[in-house]
Order: sequence, then C-alpha cells, then structure tokens
Amino acid sequence: MKILIHACCAPCLTYPLRELRTKSSDISVFCYNPNVQPFLEYEMRRDCLTKYCEKQGVTFVEGAYDFERFFQDVVFREQARCSICYKLRLTEAAKYAQRENYDYFTTTLLVSPYQEHGALRDIGQSIGQKYDVPFLYRDFRTGWRHTTSVSRELGLYRQKYCGCLYSEKERFRQKFPPQSQNKSDHREPDKLDDKTARQKKG
Ligand code: SF4
Repeated sequence: MKILIHACCAPCLTYPLRELRTKSSDISVFCYNPNVQPFLEYEMRRDCLTKYCEKQGVTFVEGAYDFERFFQDVVFREQARCSICYKLRLTEAAKYAQRENYDYFTTTLLVSPYQEHGALRDIGQSIGQKYDVPFLYRDFRTGWRHTTSVSRELGLYRQKYCGCLYSEKERFRQKFPPQSQNKSDHREPDKLDDKTARQKKG
C-alpha cells in the first residue's frame, strides 16, 4: 500500500508516520505549504522536515513555494481562510498522489487540535473523490502529546504560529487591540478571537 503524507512540519509528522508505518512500508512525505510566511519561516520548517525524513528513511518531496496562490485564494475571504488553505494544500497533494500512483493520501494537519478537524476530513474526502485517490482519514489528535514530547526530545524546530501572516499577526494579538486595527481589515473582532488558538501550532 503506497501512502503519501502531506506534511506541514516535522513535529506534526512524528505521530502519523509512526502510526502509518504499522500499515505500510511504502510511505512518502509531501511538503506543499505556501501558506507559511515569510520565506525564512518556511525554510526553517522545510529544512527540519527534510532532515527528519532523511533520518527516518522516508522519501521527501517538496512542492512549489507559490505563496502568491495562497494570497490570491484568500484575500477578501479571510474569514474562511483555513478551509481555503486546506483545500489548496490537499489538492496539490492529491494531484501528486494521482500522478505518482499512490493508493492513499493523508495529512499531518489531522494531528493538531488547533486545526478545524471536521473541515479537514470533509475537504480531504471530497478532494480524494475528485482526483480518484482515497483520502486516508484518521483522528491523529490522540497523538498530539506524542508529537510534542518527541519533538522536544529530538530538538525539532517548533513553530510559534500556524503559518500564514494572519496567524503570525494574531500571535501578537495583545499588541494589536481592536481599536488599533487597520480599517481595511474587515474581519469582526470576535471572529479574530475564534482563530487565536491556531496561532500556537500547526
Ligand atoms: S491559520 Fe493556519 S490553517 Fe488557517 S489559513 Fe493560516 S496557515 Fe492556513
């Protein structure tokens, strides 16, 4: 069984990789994360992921860092940005899986309690049907503690915010109270607060 894991970062890969290795010995990791900005942050996550894959002996594939696509999709739809972001990344993973004849594809985003888990599952399944590669859904959130302890133990790079510049801004939320927000930011303050939890980790 050939499985492609879309991976956002090394810490989030640790648990899904361990679990899926009990089902398959033919696993590759696909890094497509144009949602991660700025570039140096992307590079730190990507480099750590590359090294972890090398140590684990799994094939690592990097997609394009076309962050322009992320903004073209998200701007003026910021409130729905996470679903748009999942769709963008999982579509590229499914396309690659289809082209390279994988039996399944999945994502490390399923390990994070800070992501919109139900939306991820639904989007993954829908994209899987569209590209005729089944989305391997698992509730990997049970392994969240594993990811944090293993990544500390191995000294893996642990990001301070989810990825996009919006989440990077929310990381410093207290420095940007609602009254000082730029008027061009149309999102309601309470909606901004809903997303604050995802500032912490992928
Ligand atoms: S908060 Fe995270 S999941 Fe949501 S759009 Fe930004 S990078 Fe993507």
